[in-house]
Amino acid sequence: MTDWEVHAIKYAERSDRTRADSFIFDDNHDAPHTIDYYIWLLRRGDEVILVDTGYDDEEARARGRAIRLDPGAALAPLGLKPEDITQVIVTHLHYDHAGGLHLFPNATLYLQTSEMAYATGPCMCHDTLRMPFTAGHVCEAIKRLYSGRVVFFDGDGQVAEGVTVHCIGGHSRGLQAVRVRTQAGWMVLASDASHFYENMYARKPFPIVVDVQNMLDGFDRLHVLASRPELIVPGHDPLVRSYFAPGAADYIHRLDPGPITEIPR
Ligand SMILES: [Zn+2]
Ligand SMILES: [Zn+2]
Repeated sequence: MTDWEVHAIKYAERSDRTRADSFIFDDNHDAPHTIDYYIWLLRRGDEVILVDTGYDDEEARARGRAIRLDPGAALAPLGLKPEDITQVIVTHLHYDHAGGLHLFPNATLYLQTSEMAYATGPCMCHDTLRMPFTAGHVCEAIKRLYSGRVVFFDGDGQVAEGVTVHCIGGHSRGLQAVRVRTQAGWMVLASDASHFYENMYARKPFPIVVDVQNMLDGFDRLHVLASRPELIVPGHDPLVRSYFAPGAADYIHRLDPGPITEIPR
């Protein structure tokens, strides 16, 4: 079978934050640290799989975190409309990954059982644990479930030939990474299993965490899943746009040929 194309689509960024927001126990905790927000598109001929959905204007206003692009409209340079998307891998249900589910009304969702249980269970009684979730996004996933369009995985699962998901946990109870076969080898979209290169390379936990041990074990797991360390793509790192070539638009980068430069570790 042929390999998959992988496109990283940046729809937002935020520079009003510091390294303390990205790394636990960091010496330069008050230095500025910008974060990017991405969704990812996998394509092989007519087959299309979206990984995560971003969030919309309403959520941007509610959280005071502006978006640059509507995640549905952002697919246009790839020749796709939101209605064309029939498969969405939801890495986890945080607002910046599940906040655009309603923008893709024809999609079946691929989700870990433990993520749905976590987002709808007693842990959400705690403000701290509930903070990255938005009730409307979780309700959208439940609506999709009641219309027969959710596929659950427990641990590892296959979405398509050459595309598998792997439960990592750590940052959210049922966070899953996506492994995809590309021309460069097995690539791993870490999503929030590693927000930045520095999280996994320096083994520094991200502060939003439900289980630190799972997060640290997850950094090792990502390395096992990828053919080479440079094929692990962190979920929120602006450096991704320096390491990979621009693609169909200035905000879309093409990942599947592999990095265009050495990635320092
Ligand atoms: Zn997250
Ligand atoms: Zn995130």
